[in-house]
Amino acid sequence: MKKIGVMGSTGSIGTQTLEIVRDNPDRLQITALAAGRNVDLLEKQVREFRPKLAVLWDEEAAASLKTKIADLPVEVAAGMDGLLKMAAMEEVETLVTAVVGMIGIRPTMEAIKNGKEIALANKETLVTAGHLIMPLAKEHGVRILPVDSEHSAIFQSLQGEKRSQIRKILLTASGGPFRGKTKEELAHMTLEDALKHPNWSMGRKITVDSSTLVNKGLEVMEVKWLFDVPLEKIQVVVHPQSILHSAVEYDDGAVIGQMGVPDMKLPIQYALFYPDRLPLSGDKLDLFKVGTMTFEEPDPETFTGLKLAYEAARTGGSMPTVFNAANEEAVALFLDHKCRFLQIPEIIGKAMEQHKVIADPDLTQILDTEKEARDFVRRKL
Ligand code: NDP
Repeated sequence: MKKIGVMGSTGSIGTQTLEIVRDNPDRLQITALAAGRNVDLLEKQVREFRPKLAVLWDEEAAASLKTKIADLPVEVAAGMDGLLKMAAMEEVETLVTAVVGMIGIRPTMEAIKNGKEIALANKETLVTAGHLIMPLAKEHGVRILPVDSEHSAIFQSLQGEKRSQIRKILLTASGGPFRGKTKEELAHMTLEDALKHPNWSMGRKITVDSSTLVNKGLEVMEVKWLFDVPLEKIQVVVHPQSILHSAVEYDDGAVIGQMGVPDMKLPIQYALFYPDRLPLSGDKLDLFKVGTMTFEEPDPETFTGLKLAYEAARTGGSMPTVFNAANEEAVALFLDHKCRFLQIPEIIGKAMEQHKVIADPDLTQILDTEKEARDFVRRKL
């Protein structure tokens, strides 16, 4: 029985993780759950899965949950203290990091220090603190298993192969809802348009990130850290059907990839049961129905989010934090109808321009840089 903590249990990845746990009661057990402020759903989850600890970021929401589940022997905690407690608790063996944003950095590091295996969905954490997290995981002998579908595909394509023989990583991208649009057309895109992803059903922030291609930029940096490959070896390939989830090209020219229907449960389940493959309900890939698979080059001149991500990755140090924090802040404003679509990459670029890079930032410097970038965006927008 594997004991699991889910950080971000009420979100898109979190609820799908719980579906897998529900389908595998003899193999997986939930011991801790955490969310932001969704009391009602967390209460439902606590009643079904009976964890030892339930955490809500919001203090008031946590107090309300405590009252609601007073009949159960479940401890309730709040805020960063609650997340850190969850990351360190003995009853958690694997921590699924499914919160959105770089709020995940400290709990992820705490979990690693306590020897927990990490099933990582929370890419913003690796983008901003990969240089701290990966060596820390090595030091503590902790596995970081990717949940992101592209990174899981790369991980699956690397099984039994030598990483030293990788020639190229082919990171696929659907292109999002605005693929093929011009800059002039993008200027008129609304939040509702951005939230209509053609293939994947995901949380709101990542759906907007997919429409700007910022998500692909974050994923490029995630690949760099997870698989220790230089940027020059990572190629983004637009593949609108989202059937090939990514691939690895080896020195001899062989390309090994993973295909499947677009369903996040497969990569989540692969991370939870690795190296085993267990049956999974749901649609299976029918290549006759797919018929045609196409591949295109991305357009970073129109989708400048991707171009800026490469710039941030090349600069390194504290720059990816600025890229990420400015994006988080701008997307939050866009989700609130407080800025226009094209202002998202514009403001990320401006935040990066005015930043004085710290070459090898420690955790405090990363968090300070985050705050500065967020303040900058709030002032400008
Ligand atoms: P959602 O917005 O659907 O869910 C986010 C979750 O995080 C919710 O449970 C939310 O709680 C919780 N949360 C937010 N803030 C806090 C906080 N301060 N403390 C504790 N919990 C918090 O996001 P997704 O599931 O879409 O994405 C999660 C992560 O996974 C992101 O990093 C994303 O990039 C990555 N990812 C997602 C994929 C997907 O298919 N969705 C695919 C690949 C990667 P509440 O409901 O209370 O607000």
